[in-house]
This record gives sequence, C-alpha cells and structure tokens, in this order.
Amino acid sequence: MKIAIASGKGGTGKTTVAVNLSLSLQDAQLLDCDVEEPNCNLFLKREMEPITEVTTVIPEILEENCTYCKKCSDFCRFNAIATLPNKIMTFPALCHSCGGCMMVCPEGAIQECEIVTGIIRKSTTKDQTGPELYEGLLDIGQTMASPVIGKVKKYIDPTRTAIIDAPPGTACPVLTTLEDVDYCILVTEPTPFGLHDLKLAVEVARVLNIPHGILINRSGSGDDSVEKYCADEGIEVLMKIPQDTRIARLYSEGIPFVEEMEEWKEKFMQLYISIKDRYGRSEKA
Ligand code: SF4
Ligand code: SF4
Repeated sequence: MKIAIASGKGGTGKTTVAVNLSLSLQDAQLLDCDVEEPNCNLFLKREMEPITEVTTVIPEILEENCTYCKKCSDFCRFNAIATLPNKIMTFPALCHSCGGCMMVCPEGAIQECEIVTGIIRKSTTKDQTGPELYEGLLDIGQTMASPVIGKVKKYIDPTRTAIIDAPPGTACPVLTTLEDVDYCILVTEPTPFGLHDLKLAVEVARVLNIPHGILINRSGSGDDSVEKYCADEGIEVLMKIPQDTRIARLYSEGIPFVEEMEEWKEKFMQLYISIKDRYGRSEKA
C-alpha cells in the first residue's frame, strides 16, 4: 500500500509524521520525495549511497545550421528558447523536455543534449530495523523536481508498504508525488494559516480522487477552525499529535519521538491498520 504524507505548506510536521509512521511499521519503505530539501534522514541518520542519477534531455542548438526562423521559440510555451535576428538562446531551467522544438525545426538545427538534474540515494544499513529509506536530491540550480520524484517512486516495492514524504505546497511536484498513491494523510496545524493551506491540499486530493484524512499536529496550540472545517466537509480527522514539550524536545534533537515514546508506535500502527483495512490491498505492514 502506498500512503503519501502531504501538507499545503512546509513546517507543519509532515516529515515527522512520515518518519514516525514508517518506524512504527515492519518492513516499510520510506521514500523522501521532498527533493529540494529531503529531511527524513535528519531523523533516521542512515548511511546513504547514490544508486542512480536522474537525467533529462534539453535542446542544444547547432547555430551554424540555424536560420533564426523563430519556429522553435514560437512553439515553446515555456519560453525556454528566445530567437533574436542573429542570435538564439536557450534557458534550460525553463525547459520541460517536451521535444517539440526539435520536431518543428526545419533545418535540423536542434539536437538532444542529456543533463544530470539530480540523484537518488538509498540507505545502506541492511541489518538495521526500521524502514528502507530512499531519497531524491535535486541538483542545486535545477528547477524540475518532478522527474527526480518520478524516479524515487520507481523504487517502490509493490509487495511492501510505502510511506511517501511529499514536497510542501500544491504545485506540480506534489501532483507527481500523489499520483497513484492509495491514500493521502494531510498534515496540518490547528491555526487559520494551517487551515488556509489545508484547504488547498484537500482540493488537490479531491481533484486527483485520492482518499484522504487529516492529521492535526501540535493539537491544542491554536483554535478549532481546522476541526470545524473537517466536520463541515466530512473529512476524517485521523489523529491528533498534541503540543507536547517532550515531542518538541525530541524533534529539536533530531530524534523520532516514537523511539522514546513507545506508546506512539502503537498509535501509528493502529492508524495504519485503520487506513489499510479501508483503502489498502494485501501487502504486509
Ligand atoms: S523541449 Fe519543449 S520545453 Fe524544452 S525548449 Fe524545446 S519546446 Fe521548449
Ligand atoms: S526552428 Fe531551427 S532554424 Fe528556426 S530558429 Fe529554431 S533552431 Fe533556428
């Protein structure tokens, strides 16, 4: 079963939930798809080894063949090519690798050029208990997170439980992360700001038709606006993690709180079982 942990914005405790939930299961995989800033391993502290590069194809202009006809730049809806009267420029960071410019060029003046945009790493500690960790890491200066996320997800073992830490926000990288998951836990804080971002995240889950429920982090620290919204919208509140100085201290020390507060392992396991019973298939926990 594939369970994504998402939130409308960063800083709500999404990674904490992903790490603690995966540590509460047996033989789970944890996939860190927050590829601009993968943080799961700050808590797991595993040795990681690179297992593959992520590459993408961008256009390379053979300017000696170019007649500056502008067909390529007119075609590119991402403004990744600009044609001047005697000069042509490409902006690889804007390119979505659709290949259209190559197809429309009448002079054969554009060729494919492969560049590395990120890497995938895997935990090497085989004898250790806890989840098998994979993380994607987008190269500095690169903007196309989705191909890196897509590659991380290729390592999902369909016979096991995969916990997927999504990037913050509601843009393309989140859509790529949530595509094909069985269930999405939306993590929020009980504040008006949390509610605002939660509503956007709920919209994404609804558009993608993914069953979802809410986990309220730092419960007791704000107001009841999130719970009222969930009641009005018929969205299940799956769990509340209280505002608790012990949890906050462990977080600040980079320690998953289930490791010192064993009772939470059982709570996360029960959360998983309740989701799996309703939305899962037949994998082991
Ligand atoms: S491959 Fe597509 S997105 Fe990239 S420059 Fe060409 S037309 Fe634009
Ligand atoms: S379509 Fe080809 S020939 Fe025309 S401007 Fe682009 S690269 Fe040059």
